[in-house]
Amino acid sequence: MSFVTLEKVTKQYGPVRALDGVSLTIERGEWVSIMGPSGSGKTTLLNLLGGLDTPDEGRVVIDGHDLTQLSSAALTEFRREYIGLIFQQFHLIPYLTAVENVMLAQYYHSMIDEAEAIEALQRVGLGDRLDHLPSELSGGEQQRVCIARALINQPHLILADEPTGNLDAENERLVMDLFAQLHREGHTIVIVTHDVQIGRRADRQIQLEHGRIVGFALTPERVEETIDEMMEQLWVLKETDQLTLESFRRVCGRLGESYLSSGRLNRLVTLRDHHLVFTPEGEARARALIRRHRLAELLFSKTFSMPNHQAEAEACAFEHTLSPEATTRICTFLDHPRFCPHGKVIPPGPCCPPQEEALERATS
Ligand code: ADP
Ligand code: MG
Repeated sequence: MSFVTLEKVTKQYGPVRALDGVSLTIERGEWVSIMGPSGSGKTTLLNLLGGLDTPDEGRVVIDGHDLTQLSSAALTEFRREYIGLIFQQFHLIPYLTAVENVMLAQYYHSMIDEAEAIEALQRVGLGDRLDHLPSELSGGEQQRVCIARALINQPHLILADEPTGNLDAENERLVMDLFAQLHREGHTIVIVTHDVQIGRRADRQIQLEHGRIVGFALTPERVEETIDEMMEQLWVLKETDQLTLESFRRVCGRLGESYLSSGRLNRLVTLRDHHLVFTPEGEARARALIRRHRLAELLFSKTFSMPNHQAEAEACAFEHTLSPEATTRICTFLDHPRFCPHGKVIPPGPCCPPQEEALERATS
């Protein structure tokens, strides 16, 4: 199940449908930007994600918690534990210093610790501004105090509404670099912006208009990774002789369907009477991916004694990045294994010795 799921969410303000049947999933560790013109429902969507507001219809599920079923006390508790909020307006207390502002957030989370507050400010590059009042800080510095404040509870989900809306170019860059760093550290981030340049830095852009999602845009890297994932699913289907359009739809869902119909998979698979057939390029790509994935799994479970599910998760990250040389080294180190920890075949690579049958045939 996805980390965040919105199901047909509707929010009405009097005659205005701020959100109109929005469905959306966000994966753990993903960085998503929500884009769209003023009044398109971006802030409403973010507020629903943060449990600051509740939908009129539909469900908002975060890490298995259905926010629409929580009492208001439970919702507050959920926000405290899960969410880090960053706004365009900084909402800093004017008569408290930077470090006191962060400590106020700690107080809200019942964990006052001045050393930790100082460390949080050092992390955002404000180690030498601890005792400044907000009025003595630039816009970018104030926003960085807000980011430090939002991170105090180690939030699972960071939500930011136009976080650079009040910043000049230099401070915008500093703040965006900070988000990029948080993303690298594995945080799930949703940023609302109407700025195309800012939106592009995310893994995925969601375009809202009149309260509806009108488009998804992915970075080229994410597109390739998504295709990789689909090619692997196809390979697994082929192993069990199920390379039909129906099975593809089942495992790759609507996204798979749209990739197929938009021609993104054209060079890799072709459709023949409801069956999918790899092109040579597609077969080579899927084979190499599966090989890297299963070798990585075996490496993690054997060498680091990781439990299978953890090895699998780690392997998913590695399969996109392992170079052919590193793959060969792992394969050689593991003595050219034939099977992954789940007993599935690891396609042999150029470094592997010929298989026994082939050997037998050659020697008889
Ligand atoms: P965005 O953040 O994309 O600019 P919003 O989510 O703030 O858009 O607003 C979407 C629509 O809902 C707008 O037409 C706005 O006027 C309306 N709206 C938002 N919040 C309220 C509210 N509390 N009361 C009445 N109307 C609202
Ligand atoms: Mg807004």
